[in-house]
Amino acid sequence: MGGYDLHTHSTYSDGATSIEDNVAAAAALGLEGIAVTDHDTTAPFADARAAAYDAGIEVILGVEFSAEEDGLSVHVLGYWIDPGYQPLAAELDRLHDERPDRARRIVGRFHELGIPVSFTRVRQLAGDAPIGRPHLAAAVVELGAAASTREVFDRYLADGGPAYVPKHAVTPDRAVELLVAAGGVAVLAHPGLYGDRTGRQGLPTTVIERMCAAGLAGIEAEHPDHTAEHRAHYRDLAVALDLAVTAGSDHHGKGAEDRLGRATTPREVVERLRRWRAA
Ligand code: AMP
Ligand code: FE
Ligand code: FE
Ligand code: ZN
Repeated sequence: MGGYDLHTHSTYSDGATSIEDNVAAAAALGLEGIAVTDHDTTAPFADARAAAYDAGIEVILGVEFSAEEDGLSVHVLGYWIDPGYQPLAAELDRLHDERPDRARRIVGRFHELGIPVSFTRVRQLAGDAPIGRPHLAAAVVELGAAASTREVFDRYLADGGPAYVPKHAVTPDRAVELLVAAGGVAVLAHPGLYGDRTGRQGLPTTVIERMCAAGLAGIEAEHPDHTAEHRAHYRDLAVALDLAVTAGSDHHGKGAEDRLGRATTPREVVERLRRWRAA
């Protein structure tokens, strides 16, 4: 199969599969490499390194860093970062520590909307994972107030929705700066999926230009949930801004469609990112 899956999640954040399983699955698929990009944590690095030695494929240690721009969530992928770089580590810790409080405030919003979801139940659903909107959505579905998590997001929880509470996150350009200062390479994750996910009220191009000025190296134009229009638009934008075009599965290990390696980045592009880091 070849190529690199540059976007994967594990049980260290909201994925259903372990780091060991992900690395082994990537090797079994014949991928050249896999990036570990759990949300806002570098905790999987030790396990990922050990799994890489066993599997004999390249494992790129990274993170999917949550930023926020004007009430819009923006995710920035950072590869080859030093987990010991304090300004970044402190920001990741803060995001982690504030999650339960934010989830509680979202529960409050649902109560105001007449949907008496239980915080205890939300915490149970999250288990060891960092508590987030998907768990809140699941609790609302359980309550019978919506038919699917999709519906909960569309009606209540999408960015700017009536139950949405933003995170106290850094701006996307500051996120790029921190990842680069940590010795990493920053790539804008799934640019077509912000805001209402139609691309009409999505991320303004000016924000991407600011990220570029801060040292952005690539755009994940090839994401499984992108439409053909998203892909074409962000490929063109990457070329115009002289950025790499990357691809990843955004594997969470949930459902038949959600397969590791279903989107891969060619080796030449990974080499370009590596050179970018050295430069
Ligand atoms: P949180 O980190 O708590 O803000 O939750 C973010 C997660 O919620 C993302 O990783 C997605 O899995 C999910 N999500 C965010 N927006 C939407 C949306 N509009 N529709 C479906 N899922 C979404
Ligand atoms: Fe996720
Ligand atoms: Fe994401
Ligand atoms: Zn992701």
